[in-house]
Amino acid sequence: MSTPLPTAYEAEFAGKVALVTGGASGIGLALSRRLAASGASVVVADYHADSARKAADELRATGAQATAVALDVTDPASVEAGVRSAVDTFGALHLAVNNAGIGGPSQPTGAYGVEDWDRVVATNLSGVFYSMRYELPALLEAGGGAIVNISSILGTNGFAGSPAYVAAKHGVVGLTKTAALEYADRHIRINAVGPGFIDTPLLRDTDGPARDHLISLHPAGRLGMSEEVAELAAFLLSDRASFIHGSYHLVDGGYSAS
Ligand code: NDP
Repeated sequence: MSTPLPTAYEAEFAGKVALVTGGASGIGLALSRRLAASGASVVVADYHADSARKAADELRATGAQATAVALDVTDPASVEAGVRSAVDTFGALHLAVNNAGIGGPSQPTGAYGVEDWDRVVATNLSGVFYSMRYELPALLEAGGGAIVNISSILGTNGFAGSPAYVAAKHGVVGLTKTAALEYADRHIRINAVGPGFIDTPLLRDTDGPARDHLISLHPAGRLGMSEEVAELAAFLLSDRASFIHGSYHLVDGGYSAS
């Protein structure tokens, strides 16, 4: 999506430091670009150092401040080091998007692999906890800030064949609400975003009838675009959302309306 940013938002995040987990691909990359375009210094935190570096290089080529951090959200020590590196590089941390996630296999609950369950929950739920665990002290140190956790439409709906993903994404919504209550009076806002199915590399193995089925779930008649999710998340991170705490916002092409 190449719609130019309205001028009013061009410097909205000037002076702010933002960390985006899974920031090198799909929704996270769109968010990294969106925040950089609005003046934030962006820390692209992703599993693979090469892809994080490539994304940070791309942002710097536009004149933005950006750095790359290789980080595994399933490993608390790695997350702690990534947050420390962000603060060391840019002096503070004000904004975070906990976006890194994986899909997992499609199997009914009674046949779902135990190791698959552990891997999906470790990434999609524990990874969000570990991230907030180390981001929140940094945000407090900075005097406040905002966090957006990327859940899913499957943070409120079930989806046959994806028990671990659905459970983890529901968990992200509850975790978001709880942390929001804990930090609302300390100048930190924490919210969750629930995208419908979005056309990203996460859906790389979904084509043909399976893709058509996903599209049919959205009254809008198409999959969403990463930029459409990034726009909502950027709003929630901004001061324009100053009274929005602990809520879960859908961007789903009407999926949940029926
Ligand atoms: P992508 O696969 O395009 O991007 C996810 C990024 O996170 C990748 O760079 C991935 O690296 C990285 N990542 C995966 N595991 C880890 C880890 N342990 N530590 C650090 N980084 C990791 O996916 P999307 O952009 O589609 O998804 C982003 C988020 O949005 C996820 O939380 C997903 O669940 C959620 N979401 C996606 C929807 C969709 O339809 N696409 C719908 C609703 C929610 P690598 O490529 O190496 O795995």
